[in-house]
Amino acid sequence: MAKHIVCLTFDYDAMSGFIARGMTSPTPISRGEFGPNVAAARILALLKKYRIRTSWYIPGHTLESYPVHCQQVFDAGHEIGHHGWTHVPPALMTREQEEEGLVRANEQIKKLTGAYARGYRSPSWDLSPHSVELMLKHGFVYDSSMMGDDYLPYRVRQGDVIELEKPAVFGAATKLIEMPISWTLDDYPHFEFVRTKDWILPGLMNANLVLENWVNDYLYLKKSLKWGVITYTFHPFVIGRGHRMMALEKLIVKLKDSDAVFMTLEAAAAEYDKRTPFKG
Ligand SMILES: [Zn+2]
Repeated sequence: MAKHIVCLTFDYDAMSGFIARGMTSPTPISRGEFGPNVAAARILALLKKYRIRTSWYIPGHTLESYPVHCQQVFDAGHEIGHHGWTHVPPALMTREQEEEGLVRANEQIKKLTGAYARGYRSPSWDLSPHSVELMLKHGFVYDSSMMGDDYLPYRVRQGDVIELEKPAVFGAATKLIEMPISWTLDDYPHFEFVRTKDWILPGLMNANLVLENWVNDYLYLKKSLKWGVITYTFHPFVIGRGHRMMALEKLIVKLKDSDAVFMTLEAAAAEYDKRTPFKG
């Protein structure tokens, strides 16, 4: 039986991504605030309308700044995953800083859901050399920060040795499951205009053109593989604007009409684990 799984995921950054880049003046803070204050309720209502369970990766900063808003996500039946405490990517932290943030945010997640997170997604998608070891140590079942496949989960390697002028030496697979992501399936680079002193992210794409890419990536999965998972990544303050909400609804309707099975990343990872048991 063919089965094509769609995971809609939301990185509930609020203003934490701007703070991590030193953008703490009132305007970027208000830009992030649009997520919890306006967008999240629209998104939750849309997901309820189509009875879809999704996964929300929430930084500790959002959990502690917006406990009531985060409670609403959990109460609506969505998975709560780990997304750091600050929004600083692990690759820019020491091992100690990374583990401290991992534990601190995980305690907040336990307070909210009654259990530690099963899934981790790194802020800005950049794991450190310590991330895999720390995820295994702290009981994570899956990561969702890497791009080594598009439709098939895989086991994360540990201990690669990568040096400039030497061939890559690959480490051994661990039991940690990777639920791969891609910038093409992320709303942020398509839609957000960001200007810093060093670079500009142009964003502001036509949502219907982006939608066409998103639909075609699902249709390609459907025609190429009997079983597979496609993971879309959204940010409430990005996708929650009018024309983008309309594109999100069209995406849901089109995929539903094309036999997509919607589930959380945790549930999709569990299916993969059952189909492909780890032989470590
Ligand atoms: Zn994020």
